Amino acid sequence: MNKLKLVFATNNANKLKEVQAMLTNFEIISLADINCFDDIPETANTLEGNAILKANYITEKFGYNCFADDTGLEVKALNNEPGVFSARYAGKENNAEANMNKLLTNLGETTNREAQFRTAIALNMNQKQYIFEGICKGQILTKKQGDSGFGYDPIFMPKGYKKSFAEMDMIEKGAISHRGKAIEKLVTFLNNQD
Ligand code: IMP
Repeated sequence: MNKLKLVFATNNANKLKEVQAMLTNFEIISLADINCFDDIPETANTLEGNAILKANYITEKFGYNCFADDTGLEVKALNNEPGVFSARYAGKENNAEANMNKLLTNLGETTNREAQFRTAIALNMNQKQYIFEGICKGQILTKKQGDSGFGYDPIFMPKGYKKSFAEMDMIEKGAISHRGKAIEKLVTFLNNQD
């Protein structure tokens, strides 16, 4: 049986690998696969807004059914920062080490370490648009632990666990992560389509 083809509007190889591992029934096509090397604008001030901008860009310019995600780390004691600015929290170049250092410095000795990763996915499918959300609650550690994953993984410990995201393998993280949960909702939705 032919697998359903969908563009995942991302250039992040880690995310593609994570999502491909969870979407075995689908053929996920990357931006490179459709020869899209554009710098897609992410200028909205919400995660949902950015996901929609990216999905619409691909559907309008390339004509594909497509989904796009945007994720932010929302830290309670920092008024939900860095949020939509997570990638470039410490500067334009999206440097994970600098971003984590800035977050740890800004939190300082704060005892409220509550945080959540939140992912918004926008799916453009046959002229309709659908939004899915996934949340993973947890805590910001006082120092980095582990070297797997990417981004803020070494300083985020999901609720109910005694290790950071960076101390988990891709499958373990994907089963509980914000993106995993949002993708699960996307998959459930797609499986219920005719
Ligand atoms: P994006 O919208 O998925 O590109 O995520 C924006 C930024 O949030 C990334 O550049 C990372 O800094 C951070 N981020 C997103 N997902 C994760 C994750 O699963 N672990 C750690 N950091 C993440």
